[in-house]
Formats: sequence, C-alpha cells, structure tokens
Amino acid sequence: MLSNMVLTINTFSCCSTSPLSQIYFASFFFTHQLVQTMSMTATPPAVRSYLTPGRPTSKFMTRARMAVRSNLLSFAPILINLQRDCATPLPVLRHVADAMAADMRAGLAVDGRSDLKMILSYVDDLPTGNEKGLFYALDLGGTNFRVLRVQLGGKEERVVATEFDQVSIPQELMFGTSEALFDFIASGLAKFAQKEGGKFHLPHGRTREIGFTFSFPVKQTSIDSGILIKWTKGFAVSGTAGKDVVSCLNEAMQRLGTDMRVSALVNDTVGTLAGARYWDDDVMVAVILGTGTNACYVERVDSIPKLQEQKSVSGRTVCEKILIGYDIVLNDKMHVDEYYLFQIVNTEWGGFSNGLPLSEFDRQMDADSINPGEQIFEKTISGMYLGEIVRRVLVKMAEVADLFGEHASAKLSTPFILGTPHISAMQQDSSKNLEAVGSILYDVVGVDSNVNARKIVWEVCDTIAKRGGRLAGAGIVGILEKMEEDSKGVIYGKRTVVAMDGGLYEHYPHYRKYLQDAVTELLGSQLSKNIVIEHSKDGSGIGAALLAATNSKYEH
Ligand code: ADP
Ligand code: MG
Repeated sequence: MLSNMVLTINTFSCCSTSPLSQIYFASFFFTHQLVQTMSMTATPPAVRSYLTPGRPTSKFMTRARMAVRSNLLSFAPILINLQRDCATPLPVLRHVADAMAADMRAGLAVDGRSDLKMILSYVDDLPTGNEKGLFYALDLGGTNFRVLRVQLGGKEERVVATEFDQVSIPQELMFGTSEALFDFIASGLAKFAQKEGGKFHLPHGRTREIGFTFSFPVKQTSIDSGILIKWTKGFAVSGTAGKDVVSCLNEAMQRLGTDMRVSALVNDTVGTLAGARYWDDDVMVAVILGTGTNACYVERVDSIPKLQEQKSVSGRTVCEKILIGYDIVLNDKMHVDEYYLFQIVNTEWGGFSNGLPLSEFDRQMDADSINPGEQIFEKTISGMYLGEIVRRVLVKMAEVADLFGEHASAKLSTPFILGTPHISAMQQDSSKNLEAVGSILYDVVGVDSNVNARKIVWEVCDTIAKRGGRLAGAGIVGILEKMEEDSKGVIYGKRTVVAMDGGLYEHYPHYRKYLQDAVTELLGSQLSKNIVIEHSKDGSGIGAALLAATNSKYEH
C-alpha cells in the first residue's frame, strides 16, 4: 500500500506542468490515500500509542483522528518536497558521474583546481602474495581506532594468523590537542603489541613495522610521511593541521618508549584496495562508505599531469593486470613496450559537490556543521549524516504538523541523536504495523507514533538512503568512466572489481541495493556484468599491514 502511494505521487509529479500544481495535486492525492489508509488501519491500540496514555475515550479518539487528518495536509507537502529535492533520476545520476570524471581530471592536472584533491598515495607497488613476516596496522577512522597484527607466510601460506583490537575514541579527544590524541593511540598500540605471542613471531633485532591507515585528507610527501590538510568527520583536534601525522605518531611512541615505527602511511581506501588486490588481481577501485566516504583507484602515471615533474616513481612496477587487459581487448596487437607505470590515487571524493540534489535540510545541516560548504558529497551519502538528515525532516514534520502528536520531544531536537544504524534498522522493519520503527522512535527520540506516522518515517528514511546509495553508485561510475576514457576498453571490456568497505555499506542492505541499481542503470545490463561491486571486509587493516610489508626496510 505504501509503495503504491509513493508511486502515485511520482506519477503526478511527472505529469503536472507547474511545480505548484504538482505539489497541490500530489499532496491532495497523497493525503486522500493516506487518510483512507488510516481509516482502515488506525486500530485503537495504534491510536492509543499516539495519544496521551490512559485516555482512550471514543470522543477523544474521534477528535484525535480529525486532528491527524488535518495534519496530514501539512506534512504531506514536506514529504513530497523532500522526495522531489532528493530525487535521483537517470539524468541526475549521469550528470553526477560525468561531473565526477571531469573533477578528477581537473584535480589530476593541478593541485587546488578541483573539489577533488586527487592525492598521490606514493603506492606504486601492490601486494603480490609473496610478503612474509609479522606486520602491524593501525587504523584511525572516525568513531574508532583499530589495531591489527598479521603474520604473512608468502604465496603458499598467505595469511597465517591475524589478531585485532578496537578502541573507541573518547569524545573529548576529538576536540582536544594533537598530543593527547596521538598519546592515546600510541598507548593503545603499545598495549596491543605487549600481548603478541603464539603464531606471531618477530625476528630478533627487528623493529615492529606499522602500516598506518589515516582516513583524513593528507598531503602525502612520501610513502611514510604526510601533512594533515584538515580534519573531517567531526574531528577538530588542535595543533595537527600542517604537521606530518607520521611524526606525530612516531613522537608519541618515542615518548612511551615503544619500539615500533610507521613504514607506510596509507589512506583507508588505499589500504582497502591493497587488501582486496592481495586476493584478486582485478581490483582497480576501492570505496569506503562508513562514518565518512572516500574512493581511490589505480591510475596510469601518464594520466597524472601534476606528477610529470616529479617522475619519481620507483620505475620497478608495471601494472600487470592492465597489460593483460590490453592483451585481451586489442587482441594481441599490443607491443611489448606498451606498458605503463601506475600509482594509486586517493580522490577524496567526499569534497565533490557538482549538481547534487539537495534539500533545505541538507543546507541547514551543512550551515550548522563545523565545516560549512565543505564535504558536500560526504554529507549527502555517508553514515555520519544520513540519520541526522532524517532527524531534521522529522523535527519539521513534528513542529509544523504534529507528526508525533502534540507532545514535542526534547530528545528529537538533539542533533545527531538519530544515527544511521537506527534508520537502517527502521527500514528493515517489514512488519504490518512497523513495530520496530515505533520502538526505535520511542527509545531513541522519545516519541510515540501511530502506524501512519511510522509509515511516513519509513518513507523519509527510504528517501535519504535511496539518494545516498544512488549517488554513491553514480560516483563509482564516474571513476570507472574516467579510467575507461583513458584506457579504451580495459575497464568495461573485462572483469573489473570495485572493493567496498565501511559500516554503512556493510550493514545497510537497502542502501547497498540502491547503489548497485544506480550502477546498473548507468552502465546498462551488458557492461555492468563486467563490473563487480564487492564487499571487502576489513580489507583496509590487512591492506595497510601488507603495504608496511611491501615498504619494509628489511628483506622479506
Ligand atoms: P569508520 O568509518 O569510523 O572507520 P566504520 O567503517 O565501521 O567506521 O563505519 C561506521 C559507520 O557505519 C557508523 O558511523 C555508521 O554511520 C555506519 N553504520 C554502522 N552500523 C550501521 C548499520 N547497522 N546500519 C547503517 N549504518 C551503519
Ligand atoms: Mg574506517
């Protein structure tokens, strides 16, 4: 019933001519349907939960029902406007994909010319499977930091053993000093290293080497150094911007007297790509959808104009898989010297903003954020923000139209109280009366809801998740499109894998489906068969350890 209702709205929106009449007709039709739905489904228990408890008299219920009917007239347009502003039909997706590809080119040409920083990772050598020894990884992501150790056994034994630990970052450290944050991380790392044993073995006299995954924008200056450009994802640590984050961590470890050193500084997307590539040679792109979002990919060095002056790439690596790709596509026309060097480029695509469908709620959330005007793609598609956008819509519906009755909830007005895991859980409620939606609304934002209010909330969650997933899919196609244009057939003409990671992608099935739908719509059913979008769970941790191995100062 609910999906019929929304379909009707969309049909009306498409057929009418003036925007005003669209809203009028759609809202009339929507309200009409909803009131009918309500009259059929608003059983006394559902209504009672909406009313003040203990007063379910029939006179009172009739009044309440009338109140709800009149309120529907007020919140229907809010939902309709939201769905219109957040709509992602194919032309919007196509525009986003094309603009993403164009912004990538601009960012590769000159630093500072594009919303996309297109940061060089200095990773020009990917794991081969031959790596051996004990390596550590440290992942500073957003909500948590993770530490991991891995014992690598070369081609035969591969990953012999792994162990990891996770520590949540105290809120005050996210707003504290650089020293306090790095001391906290170093001490977590030291405690973890003390528990080493069993299958993990460090040859005598060696320092433990760490692959440091740092998921914030960094201007990398070599594989083991990088200057923090700015904090994102709600961090506002003082005294780090403009500093080398590897020195910050190494100094903290020295203060503690820990014998460990960072041998590779790795963005989490780059770690994911390296980790996935260890198992599958067709991996060319990696995307993170967690608290924040980012993407990286394998770029040809001759397609990076801003690197031309530095031609400092080691020169030892040929992207073998791309060679093989040419072989297939050009049907043996390839000459032996048609190989090229590659480097992994970190797009920092969270900064993308061109042509995104935004609502008043997005604009207000951005204005209230600690980085207004920045990271607009991230604010539209990533886990930190989806729940908050939904909350803002619900606040308006509650204020303007008493969506949850007359009793306002102070909790609902608390920024970020509704998380993306909550909206994901609400969307997975397929029960007739949406009981799980009701419980989450009650437990998390302190409101009572009847079944119709819950349906509206479900719709709001769906609208925001759908936009996020589809735009993420369009972004992926933008990257593939750019790679395809430069390599003519190598990407679309063979199996190409996009490795995905992050809590949002992992735990939000509707979002994942919307993402895949957008990729299929954009590429068409034939080409999209070659593009495999695959979850690479916790690949970034192992990937960082693998890159520490690849860049080890010891022979392996
Ligand atoms: P980080 O991005 O901090 O490195 P993760 O990749 O684990 O960490 O992602 C955590 C984010 O994933 C959370 O901030 C949240 O937005 C999102 N997330 C976690 N669990 C769920 C869930 N069940 N449904 C939807 N999103 C989730
Ligand atoms: Mg992460």
